[in-house]
Amino acid sequence: MVLQRIFRAVIIGPPGSGKGTVSGRISKSFGLKHISSGDILRANINAKTELGLLLKSSIDRGQLVPDHVMSRLILTDLRAIEQSSWLLDGFPRTVTQADSLDQVYSVDTVINLNVPFHTIKERLTSRWTHLPSGRVYNIDFNPPKVPGRDDVTGEPLVQRDDDTPDTVTRRLKAYETQTEPVLEYYRSKGVLETFSGTETNKIWPHVETFLHKKLSVLNHSVA
Ligand code: ATP
Ligand code: MG
Repeated sequence: MVLQRIFRAVIIGPPGSGKGTVSGRISKSFGLKHISSGDILRANINAKTELGLLLKSSIDRGQLVPDHVMSRLILTDLRAIEQSSWLLDGFPRTVTQADSLDQVYSVDTVINLNVPFHTIKERLTSRWTHLPSGRVYNIDFNPPKVPGRDDVTGEPLVQRDDDTPDTVTRRLKAYETQTEPVLEYYRSKGVLETFSGTETNKIWPHVETFLHKKLSVLNHSVA
């Protein structure tokens, strides 16, 4: 679908709820630019930038990056793509971050992936990631074509340092206390759309149908 006006979306869900996978599909089907806070942070860690070195140990422990650091990082990236439609994945993760985004851009839609915590715990410990692209695989239900290798580039897959059982528990706790209030924030603005389920492949068609409808309404309203 070709977008005729700028469309700004956010995807929210607990760690391992499938945000990365669904975001990839959204950006492919609808042409939104995908901005993932986790991918940006991991790229900094990988490249051993000053910021990456500073943040690695707290991220590995499952703690959130301070709001002002995160907001500056993301808002700077958004400024560079101001004329494009985008999808934010992993930001905002606190009400403070949502407020700082709101001061600059209004969000058209927030996609909430509602996946039970026990499903997530099982998933994350069998997850393998291609760090440069953020592509994820699961050894149980979405394995790579060649074991240990990314399907597109053939490069090696790794297990994230923060996908250990203890850290996953801490990340889920952080989600509950700090990110769930963001859902309420967007619900009260009337832009929250919740999709519940345990499998990404079953949730995706609903997200796709919803966005098709939403975007054709928006396109008609400018035509
Ligand atoms: P998933 O595993 O599905 O990618 P996640 O939310 O656990 O979800 P990322 O979004 O990749 O993982 O983020 C990894 C880590 O980076 C977080 O645990 C946190 O430490 C840090 N982080 C990412 N985004 C933010 C943010 N908006 N605010 C604060 N910390 C963040
Ligand atoms: Mg992610």
